[in-house]
Amino acid sequence: MGIYVYLIEQEEKVGGWASKFSVMYPHDKSGKELVSELLAEIAKRGSKITIFTNAKLLKKAGYLGNFEITIGIGGNADKAETINLEVGAVIVATGFDTYKPKQGEFGYGLKGVITLPEFKEMVEASNGKIEYDGKQVKSVTYIYCVGSRQKADVENANTYCSRYCCNATIHTSTLVSKIDPTIHQFHLYRDIRTYGKYETLYEETQKLGSLFLKFDEDEPPVVDSPNGNLRVRVKDLLTDREEIEISSDLVVLVTGMVPRENSSLTNALKIPLGRDRFYNEIHPKLRPVETVIDGVYIAGAAQGPKNSSESVASALAAASKAAGLVMKGYTELQPLVAYVDPDKCEWCGLCSEACPYEAIEKSTDEQRGKEIATVAGILCKGCGGCVPVCPTDAIQVKGYEDQTIMDAIDALLEEA
Ligand code: SF4
Ligand code: SF4
Repeated sequence: MGIYVYLIEQEEKVGGWASKFSVMYPHDKSGKELVSELLAEIAKRGSKITIFTNAKLLKKAGYLGNFEITIGIGGNADKAETINLEVGAVIVATGFDTYKPKQGEFGYGLKGVITLPEFKEMVEASNGKIEYDGKQVKSVTYIYCVGSRQKADVENANTYCSRYCCNATIHTSTLVSKIDPTIHQFHLYRDIRTYGKYETLYEETQKLGSLFLKFDEDEPPVVDSPNGNLRVRVKDLLTDREEIEISSDLVVLVTGMVPRENSSLTNALKIPLGRDRFYNEIHPKLRPVETVIDGVYIAGAAQGPKNSSESVASALAAASKAAGLVMKGYTELQPLVAYVDPDKCEWCGLCSEACPYEAIEKSTDEQRGKEIATVAGILCKGCGGCVPVCPTDAIQVKGYEDQTIMDAIDALLEEA
């Protein structure tokens, strides 16, 4: 679309999680290759796309169409080289982290109990056989929903479903069966959520020999290690809660997505988090990539658990929104915004503190020889939060002035 793009990457290389993966479902392309292809595409665009690595967004000022952002490159915040950029829109695509199990959670900490990302790395690195600690792996037990769909009484509970992990595990288990068809694989699950095309993978992995056992969330599997060998005990709901004991070389904890620790970015951009601590959109169906800060959009798993194709779809939506704004070149403003009566205002700053959108600034009124509050109409949402805090009744919202409200009440009383 001919728009200049600055890509701010906090790691040394771009590509995130996808750049670590080999074959991905459903296209069977390698994540590493996909990222290389995109980098080659970027190289062709010449100066239109600039990538900053080891970089962070430190500050944002201005408003939609007219942001001034400061980025720090290399080193920590006080030692970083800083660069100021003027941009029309910002897209936040900071991705996710994986849940880190607590010590002892489903045996985490015991030798041979690992997380799904760790297991995926092993599978990616395997060369004809899968090995752990120098020994060939003969059996793997997966425990699903670790760190997802937690009960609300757990501290910092992740009550949401991570959506991608059933699919990722089942895809990984098909790869394992193809590498070594003799490996026994046991999947202990609460529900299998392989929606859409992933259902065919679920069927395929069963045909390849994987065995699925369903457990009750109130009676989760127990992992221990008597005699140095891993043992998993589970009550299988599909065989009327029969207790089944599995001895396994590896126990893979199917860990879900958690939000990245992004507090400095969140503070700089002032975008809100949802109850799940991921970035929040205005409306999940009607405005799925917009935030309450006009001109700041969110995409991918920064907004909540998503697989790679869902992340790409949301990134395209955010890019379209940002491009629409920048290419149009102007925007319609809300007419019902706050305004200040300069005769009454004696700048105390209370309205500025109360405004959640940072729409009020101090300015000098040369004519009256004093400092007063000024509302940036482009930032004001007309929420009225500033009105009741003003000790001199100097600030009002257009269309909702005190007098207008009093007149409306009087009219209603007359009718009554
Ligand atoms: Fe002026 Fe009222 Fe705002 Fe104080 S609260 S700065 S007096 S408009
Ligand atoms: Fe800020 Fe709301 Fe007042 Fe506008 S009406 S200046 S958004 S507090």
